Amino acid sequence: MPPRPSGLYDCHLHTPLCGHATGAPREYAQAALDAGLAGLCFTDHAPMPAWYDAPWRMRLDQLQEYVDGVRAVQAEFAGRLDVRLGLEADFHPGTERFVEGLLTAHDWDYVIGSVHYLGAWGFDNPEFVDEYGARDLGGLYTDYYALIGGAARSGLFDSIGHLDLPKKFGHRDPGGAAALRALDAVAEAGLSLDFNTAGWRKPVAEAYPAPDLVAEAVNRGIGFVLGSDAHQPQEVGFRFADAAALLEGMGARVVTYARRVRLVGDAAPGPQP
Ligand SMILES: [Zn+2]
Ligand SMILES: [Zn+2]
Repeated sequence: MPPRPSGLYDCHLHTPLCGHATGAPREYAQAALDAGLAGLCFTDHAPMPAWYDAPWRMRLDQLQEYVDGVRAVQAEFAGRLDVRLGLEADFHPGTERFVEGLLTAHDWDYVIGSVHYLGAWGFDNPEFVDEYGARDLGGLYTDYYALIGGAARSGLFDSIGHLDLPKKFGHRDPGGAAALRALDAVAEAGLSLDFNTAGWRKPVAEAYPAPDLVAEAVNRGIGFVLGSDAHQPQEVGFRFADAAALLEGMGARVVTYARRVRLVGDAAPGPQP
């Protein structure tokens, strides 16, 4: 049995409302408790304008159901597990106003900004992986990291999701300058990075971001928020002991967010309003 990380929060979790996750929110919370975590933050795929990636996220008319579901789990686990309410929103030029509207609609604890599309291509979808063969990898990463820079500067998000996501199927960045520019933007905007252990479950078999990017982020004073990107309860806290050891070994700071305020490590949340 792997070592049980204690005091940690899993801050990247989905629910069945996104259409591609299984298990009720309370089962994710129970899994977190069983794994010895101190808390979790649900960050399901946020609604986006109807034309954008609709099959892979909750609809706008399901947002209240999502919030109510997380609030119910929060009440059920009160005093045992700190349950927080967040979103994984997409950064995609033209949708910023829509996302801004969502962010003011509820009291979010934490909002991840992720880039899953280059133009109309969902580059992390296994169905469209052949497209990598038709692209210049250097150009792809340059375009991708330019979007990450835009996400950082948008003022919408607390962190950037799975920073080096295009490596998912093994197509690694042949350069590196674009990634560093993106990290500069992340640092300048005061954002954190999602340290996402799902990469260890994917063909690339490496967490996001890669160790060299973790080191560059540490040099820039960027903090990390741990996330399993669980789409089923069994994935909650996936390889968190490894993640914590890696981050600690590199001198990285682990943070969480409550009411969109950054907290260091496993600091208890402030008094509830
Ligand atoms: Zn998902
Ligand atoms: Zn994602």
